[in-house]
Amino acid sequence: TSLQELLLSRIQDVPDYPKPGITFKDITPLLADAAAFTALTEALAEICLAQGAQKVVGLEARGFILAAPVAVRAGVGFVPVRKAGKLPGATLGQAYELEYGTAEIEIHADALEQGDKVLVIDDVLATGGTAEASVELIRRAGGEVTGLAVLMELGFLNGRERLTPALAGAPLDAL
Ligand code: 5GP
Repeated sequence: TSLQELLLSRIQDVPDYPKPGITFKDITPLLADAAAFTALTEALAEICLAQGAQKVVGLEARGFILAAPVAVRAGVGFVPVRKAGKLPGATLGQAYELEYGTAEIEIHADALEQGDKVLVIDDVLATGGTAEASVELIRRAGGEVTGLAVLMELGFLNGRERLTPALAGAPLDAL
């Protein structure tokens, strides 16, 4: 579709970042293009409304940039999931495996009402580790995950397959 073409045309491949052999998908050209950023925001807001989500959760850091305007457009609240140690209040944490070692993400323990319907938003789905941990964390915080929406899915890393059990039938939309 033309939305896909517009979005793809504004994502830049950066070779050997952050390490040799890795090609990083840089979304800053898309964010700098008003038409592309607006089209992305509106497409994500439509998903939010179609799913009846009451909150959007953005994953640090680029997920914040995408999720915040979606929240405003869809008329729902925004909740951050952050790297451990960044949120000031009482938190729930979820550790997950990286290629080397582990990482931990957190959410404010009182950020969600019991049963809140939540759309999770991030920029890129790679291995799915971050999204999987986020879905688990949101459930523990009382949320009901209506779906996961990302700008771009790196299909060759099989994140979608990894996420299937965690999503439990909730849709994964990759624009
Ligand atoms: P995963 O946990 O799925 O392996 O990695 C996804 C997380 O790492 C996302 O939060 C995403 O922002 C970041 N990430 C991994 N690879 C890329 C990439 O090539 N481009 C961008 N923009 N983010 C990436």
